[in-house]
Amino acid sequence: MQIDYLIVGAGFSGCVIAERLAREKSKSVLIIDKRSHIGGNAYDYYDESGILVHKYGPHIFHTNLNEVFEYLSQFTEWIPYEHRVRCMVEGKSYPFPINRSTINALFGLKLETEEEVEAFYASQREPITNPTNAEERVLATLGRKLYETFYESYTKKQWGIDPKELNAQVTARIPYRLNNDDRYFQDRYQMMPKDGYTAMFKKMLDHPLIQVQLNCDYFQLPSSISYKHLIYTGPIDQFFNYCYGPLPYRSVKFSLKTLDQDSAQEVGTVNFPNDHDYTRCTEFKKLTGQQTDKTTIAYEYPDTPENCDNELYYPIPTKNSDALYKRYSLLAHQLKNVSFLGRLGDFKYYNMDHAVMRALKFFKNELSHHE
Ligand code: FAD
Ligand code: UDP
Repeated sequence: MQIDYLIVGAGFSGCVIAERLAREKSKSVLIIDKRSHIGGNAYDYYDESGILVHKYGPHIFHTNLNEVFEYLSQFTEWIPYEHRVRCMVEGKSYPFPINRSTINALFGLKLETEEEVEAFYASQREPITNPTNAEERVLATLGRKLYETFYESYTKKQWGIDPKELNAQVTARIPYRLNNDDRYFQDRYQMMPKDGYTAMFKKMLDHPLIQVQLNCDYFQLPSSISYKHLIYTGPIDQFFNYCYGPLPYRSVKFSLKTLDQDSAQEVGTVNFPNDHDYTRCTEFKKLTGQQTDKTTIAYEYPDTPENCDNELYYPIPTKNSDALYKRYSLLAHQLKNVSFLGRLGDFKYYNMDHAVMRALKFFKNELSHHE
């Protein structure tokens, strides 16, 4: 078989590139995935009760990037959805990210204005001017009590390492609020694909120049397939046979339960920072707006990849892993007909919109250098 581009991985990164190459450049593409489905970690399917579930954990679409939203809108309609999260602490449920209600309820206060809330945070903060890790970042913005109540144990459970070792960007993902806004995100676009993610990916790949091969591992690909350029969205360390040692990843076990009731919890996701082995529980119907008698929920148990069928969900961002990734990325730059993309190929904690933006930018700005 002779093709222009071989793309490894049919997640967001691979699908965007495949679509662009076929539609914009009339290139022939073979996109492979070692899994039995397209969509990567955003894959969704209907379970036995007819409920749309996300196989690899809840995926909520949100972005400020017009370009990403407009691009994806070619392949899906949307339904509006604003995600809300509650944190269970000592049997009580609090809005999260921390907002004025969280503070008033936890500390028994009656703060009313933004100035009062800001003054309260200021009174809690530790004097750390340039936070260098995930713990310091929270101490510098919210102080120790809020760190210990909402962040410390969750972060240890989620990542399996001391929050002091994790980059500050990890906890910086979560804002804190001066008002009562209890939405998880404040992005301009907050919506879910109307018919789900998988339906959207199917449309992206629906082109005569795109061939899809599933259950196909790049490292076992027959040599009869020849291509001019390889776009690889799998783990970069594996590509180079772990020559500098493995990069660290965190994985998750998902435990799904279908309940014979219309609704299971008050909001889309409930977090459990300090109790249980799981971090959070998500009710899919709350995200997708589906109307059915039953409901399916997913608990997330973070663990090592070895205990999770070697699935690599989260690159673990630390100083050491940044340095190790840099060494692999130098090797990657020496290869003329191979490009690396995506959460695993770039070893970056991308959200879906970041993965799409990265792929669109790569297509626009970098791909031509390789031709
Ligand atoms: P992936 O989706 O990981 O795709 C890579 C693909 O490559 C996989 O399908 C894999 O099977 C395949 N592959 C790897 N190696 C090989 C090989 N050797 N041969 C063949 N195929 C191979 N983002 C959000 O914006 N909002 C959210 O709410 C959100 N929630 C998330 C929840 C969880 C639990 C996780 C893990 C991630 C979440 N994300 C979320 C992030 C989102 O999943 C990623 O941004 C996105 O899926 C990245 O796409 P990708 O194509 O780069 O990688
Ligand atoms: N986090 C926390 N407590 C929470 C929620 C999040 O400590 O209740 C921290 C934790 O370190 C987590 C990070 O904030 O890994 C980012 O959270 P986010 O919800 O963005 O993680 P993701 O959805 O990517 O798993």
